Amino acid sequence: MIVHWHRRDLRPNDNRGLAHAVDDGPVVPLFVLDPTVLEHASPIRVACLLEALDDLRAWYRERGSDLLVVRGEASAVVPEIAAESDATRVVWNEDYSGLAQERDRAVRAALEDDGVACESVHDAIHHEPGSITPNQGAHYSVFSYFWKKWRDREKRDPVDEPDAADLATVSGEPIPSLAELGFDEPEATPPTVTTAAARERVADFCAGPIYDYAERRDYPAESGTSRLSPHLKWGTIGPRELYAATERAAQRAQTDDDRESVRAFQRQLAWREFYAHVLEFNPETVTENFSGYENEIEWRNDPAELEAWKAGETGYPIVDAGMRQLRAEGWMHNRVRMLVASFLTKDLLTDWRAGYDWFRAKLADHDTANDVGGWQWAGSTGTDAQPYFRVFSPMKQGREYDPDGEYIREYVPELADATAAEIHSWHELAPAEREQVAPEYPAPIVDHADRRERAISLFERARGE
Ligand code: FAD
Repeated sequence: MIVHWHRRDLRPNDNRGLAHAVDDGPVVPLFVLDPTVLEHASPIRVACLLEALDDLRAWYRERGSDLLVVRGEASAVVPEIAAESDATRVVWNEDYSGLAQERDRAVRAALEDDGVACESVHDAIHHEPGSITPNQGAHYSVFSYFWKKWRDREKRDPVDEPDAADLATVSGEPIPSLAELGFDEPEATPPTVTTAAARERVADFCAGPIYDYAERRDYPAESGTSRLSPHLKWGTIGPRELYAATERAAQRAQTDDDRESVRAFQRQLAWREFYAHVLEFNPETVTENFSGYENEIEWRNDPAELEAWKAGETGYPIVDAGMRQLRAEGWMHNRVRMLVASFLTKDLLTDWRAGYDWFRAKLADHDTANDVGGWQWAGSTGTDAQPYFRVFSPMKQGREYDPDGEYIREYVPELADATAAEIHSWHELAPAEREQVAPEYPAPIVDHADRRERAISLFERARGE
């Protein structure tokens, strides 16, 4: 017997670790609800996880097997299940965060003590950390160089799902509910995280929207992006299967622009891998700045301003729309993530870690590497980060990316009757005008021009200038 320990690879298809395990089958499929991992989780993510587990279990059950879902420390549970199943080997797919690696080292040591072999396989990304490197150093810090190599490197084909004959006949206990695991119901409606939903989204996106991606991806009112992030987070779609679908779309492309648009989408998939590499070699950047400054950054960290940001009550319409989308859907459009993160760090002069903690609690697609990468980019502390003197103007960004105010009105109902011009000049309206247009919506809590200057001085002091 071989145990395949599922973690963030909640699918039977295009799963390299599982395919590797069945080579020497029969396979006992396992998932561990580890309290140390759950300590870092949030209601929305656990809700997504439980749905994906339920879906995966159904797939195994239809084939006369089962997914064993067991509560307990992984370093105790995995060896126990290996012993009960008389397994000679345990296989899993690599996870690149520091916490996961620490857990895996403990599991590996416990299995080795019991004389059980273990093997980890690279599955979640195309090119594993350490395989795309500059002349010096373990990983690239500039994305455009990484991208050129990633783009030109040959990609593996998707792997098949296992046959029923390769699966062990086992039977698991019921999967605990959200409440049994000690979590409240999520504030947002969680997305559907199953392999069928993931495949449907890939098929729909690659049938048309992928050709407009380059043009539409920055406009939050349009559904121009794939919304595959919760699937990539939980592994309900495999990276090879997704990439192969994009390559087929490229072959069907009618024009050079269509082909370029597919490339633009693949480029975003490469960002995900870039950040996985950065995290693997710098696990401390979950809490520490990637780029050190000469002096500490003297963040202002005003609690009332942070609360206004979280609630979507800053008086900057596009920022508030994004923050409310996050609470309602557990997802936010990328352009708006960049903008709200810039607003928190540069306008509210608040440490990026406070924003990261909020995103981690609220995002269904929270992925340590991408989330830390995005926050450190916006906070001008990361790899290939936004230069500290280039501060987004929330008014200009609103005008450019939501010109009709459609996205803003959807999430900020107080502005439902305001014209686009009123929305985008909200910061300039006199109090009486604001009172007339949208009496329930707050005035800007800070002055952008003033805070921009203060942010630049803050970073100059940190740089020792
Ligand atoms: P699409 O545009 O359709 O892109 C397809 C996939 O490519 C995404 O699902 C994602 O896996 C990857 N991708 C796209 N853009 C990026 C990017 N800039 N960095 C890394 N990968 C990317 N993404 C997460 O998956 N989880 C996070 O926790 C997360 N936190 C972020 C925090 C901040 C402050 C910022 C600025 C960005 C963050 N991102 C995060 C990146 C990006 O915003 C999301 O991946 C994207 O909005 C997801 O929507 P989509 O699937 O429709 O994206």
